Amino acid sequence: MAWLELPRDKAGFVRRECPRCQRNFKTRPNRHDPGMLQRLLAGYFPFENVHEAYTAEELPAWHCLYCGHRALPDAWLTPDQSAHVERMARSWANHVRYEQLAYVQRTLSQNPHPTFVSVPPEPLPRPLPPDEEVLRTLPMLCCGEEVQASWDWDAPLVCPRCGAHHGGLSGRRQVNLEFVQE
Ligand SMILES: [Zn+2]
Ligand SMILES: [Zn+2]
Repeated sequence: MAWLELPRDKAGFVRRECPRCQRNFKTRPNRHDPGMLQRLLAGYFPFENVHEAYTAEELPAWHCLYCGHRALPDAWLTPDQSAHVERMARSWANHVRYEQLAYVQRTLSQNPHPTFVSVPPEPLPRPLPPDEEVLRTLPMLCCGEEVQASWDWDAPLVCPRCGAHHGGLSGRRQVNLEFVQE
C-alpha cells in the first residue's frame, strides 16, 4: 500500500508523538509501519481482506523517548498523520464502493433499464508534505539505531524500541548506556 505512507524528513526520519506526554521525536521508518497503518484503515472501514491480512500480525509496542510510556504502534501518530489516515480511509472506501457499483453495472450490461448511475469518486488525497523540521540525531547504541530528539531535551532518554534507559546528554554527543531494571 504505497499510497499510504507517513511523511519523512530529508534524512529519512518519521515523526512520532507520544500519546501521554505529547512530545515529538523521530525514528527511522519501521518495518511494522505498513501493518500498523493498514490496521488503522481497517478500523475505519472494515474491509474483510484487510482484516484477514493484518489483524493477526503481532506489532511490538514502542516506548516514548522522553517519558518512557509504552504503547502499541498505532498510538504514536501525530494529529496531522492521524487526520491524514482518516481522510485516506474515507476516500478509499468511496473508491471501493465505486468499483463495486461499476462491477454490478458491467455484469448487468444486458439490463436495458439501469436503476442507478455511479459517479466516479474524488481522487485519493495527496500525501502529507515532507517533514521539514530538523531535530537532534542521536544513536541508540542498544539497538544500533538512530533517533531524533528535540534540541532542548536534556534529561535521560528511553530507547523507543527496547525501552533501555540512557543517561542524560548534557552537551555530550555520545549516549552512555545505562540499563535500568524495569
Ligand atoms: Zn512521552
Ligand atoms: Zn534499544
